[in-house]
Amino acid sequence: MRIILASLLLLITATPASFQTNSRLGMSHANVARLRPFQSQLIETTRPENCRREHRIFTEKPHMAGSVQNYELAKYVAKRWREYGLEDVELVEHPVYLPWPIRYEATIVAANEKLSLKEDPIPQDKDSYSDDVGIPYCAYSADIDVTAPVVYVNSGNPEDYDLLAKQGIDVRGKIALARYSVPYSYRGFKALTAEKRGAAALLLYSDPADDGFKKGEVYPWGPWGPESHLQRGGIVYDFNLPGDPRTPGWASVPGGRFLPAETAVSMPTIAAAPMSYKDARKLLEKMTGPTAPDAWQGGLPFRYRLGPTSDKLHLIIENDKKVRSIWNVIGRLRGVERPNEWVVLGNHRDAWVFGGVDPSSGSASMMETARALGQLKRNGWKPRRTLIFASWDAEEFTLTGSTEWGELEAERLKAGALAYLNVDSSSSGNSFSASAVPALVEFLRDVARDVPDPSGGSIYDAWLRNSRAEGSKEALVTTRLGSGSDYTVFLNFLGVPIADLTFDGPYGVYHSIYDSFTWVDRVGDPGYYYHAAMARYWAVAALLLAECDYVPLDYAAYAREMQVYIDETERAARERKMQLDFRSVREAARAWERNGMTASAGARSAVERGDRARVELIHKGLMKVERALLDEAGLAGRPWFKHLLYAPRPTYKALILPALTEAIEAGDNNLARAEIARLSRALNRAAKAIDF
Ligand SMILES: [Zn+2]
Repeated sequence: MRIILASLLLLITATPASFQTNSRLGMSHANVARLRPFQSQLIETTRPENCRREHRIFTEKPHMAGSVQNYELAKYVAKRWREYGLEDVELVEHPVYLPWPIRYEATIVAANEKLSLKEDPIPQDKDSYSDDVGIPYCAYSADIDVTAPVVYVNSGNPEDYDLLAKQGIDVRGKIALARYSVPYSYRGFKALTAEKRGAAALLLYSDPADDGFKKGEVYPWGPWGPESHLQRGGIVYDFNLPGDPRTPGWASVPGGRFLPAETAVSMPTIAAAPMSYKDARKLLEKMTGPTAPDAWQGGLPFRYRLGPTSDKLHLIIENDKKVRSIWNVIGRLRGVERPNEWVVLGNHRDAWVFGGVDPSSGSASMMETARALGQLKRNGWKPRRTLIFASWDAEEFTLTGSTEWGELEAERLKAGALAYLNVDSSSSGNSFSASAVPALVEFLRDVARDVPDPSGGSIYDAWLRNSRAEGSKEALVTTRLGSGSDYTVFLNFLGVPIADLTFDGPYGVYHSIYDSFTWVDRVGDPGYYYHAAMARYWAVAALLLAECDYVPLDYAAYAREMQVYIDETERAARERKMQLDFRSVREAARAWERNGMTASAGARSAVERGDRARVELIHKGLMKVERALLDEAGLAGRPWFKHLLYAPRPTYKALILPALTEAIEAGDNNLARAEIARLSRALNRAAKAIDF
């Protein structure tokens, strides 16, 4: 559909055209030249057909966190990694609070009509006939047994409830029916909002205007969600605290210390569950009351109304309250020269059902990345630094596996981690997309220049083309970092520079049973060329970081971006007529920028002169900067989040300068002044770490 085979075959055998000079990769020309054959080997040994074979294995059965199948897959990953030549491969167990569903029923009372609450099999996808898909649910939902009318709350955002209130519609004690928003807004925020507004429960449905037939062809003919697809997912308040709710800030280990889960700041008190539009339409058709505003009208062929429904719904949601063991798989390629300096590569393994795209496309790419790097080592490569491969468990619940492991290994990670490279879904389409701290932007672009794209040219060429189509002059990297995948513990708790990578495209089956092997094989990435492209990109990035002379973190760029955030924040304060003096943060950001430039230039010239002591000094300094942006006290009400430049909002959207911004949004002058001082101290620490 998207790929011309002839050009692909050419690409697989071609050597990438351009290799960069040292400045952005943090290494000498000689080092770049030394690595060139290794890069070519990585690119040549990585094969789409291997990705497809692995993908079939990962997606064969539902593999939710805590299930036997996901444990079996953990053992499979470990076995394969050992075969690939990875070292110290181990399954790391974390006992965590991981409720599973017991009961989900919804009956329209007077009509005595039971909603199906399940997805229909389709003949083109044998996996959709599986008996093991389980009860669809929202993880960490409260339990409920209620009979109440239903109200349509559009996207379930605060302004939606305000509009309902203006229309005289009271949601208190009623069941709120919200559609999943596009663009994506975290469902936990919808739960929090419904909880605050006093709804009895929340039903989250997939409207055809958002990810179904109104967008285009539905599966199995196209990428969009068929009639009965529904989106499972967590509603936990992990924007307050990710990981096991019983262990805020420390690891859950067998025999360890645990608090009661119910009291955690991450636990919702509202009940919520997902629904297809096939079921939801039966409620929407029964809505009385005023017609919905045009912006609230979805894709079903009748006029939406605000409600309440003429008939009540009897809703039962029940989950067990169990602690279950989850299993991260950790493997290494040990560094020869600097074993305690780590480059970490991670992907989660657990899926809501089959996990076609999310996350098994990433798992398939990761297996190929691990195989290629293991092969390289067998062929004589001696990694300078240690590469760590992580197959995380229970990401879907509350970023659980990565968070617990990050907490377990906190000291070693803070001392020696250069970067964390995350791939959740690797390929729902062909459009390369990257999020990262500003310090890694140029490095990511350079890696993209060295890896071929299945469409011809390099990944960078295709990426730049797409970015230009969006009106950007440069290849776009999202640097405003919120949350939503396993990089959170690394950035927000540990202060490790992160990047999050994917190829995306139209994708309407997220967290449904149709997110399967067949969806990927037929629609998302036929031929698995983008899976292989991701494996190559990931492997080359890991190689370059493992081998650099000094870590290629560009803090002048980071500090420049910071000044944009300071401008925005100052504007927000002025709009609220707050009297705040930003001079100290500005001065600190400028010092940070100057030192960032001096450090990069100094490292470059020291590499050229062969002054290894100087290179080492600057390298060690660069490694401290992201850590310096943490403040141990953390953010108000959520001390686990320690980074003072980035945090997620409850929607998962990025909150820049979070402590200060929250003080300004609360209109609290004194707190804002204190936060300016705290931010200045962090920026000064960052500047001082690279004061050469
Ligand atoms: Zn995922």
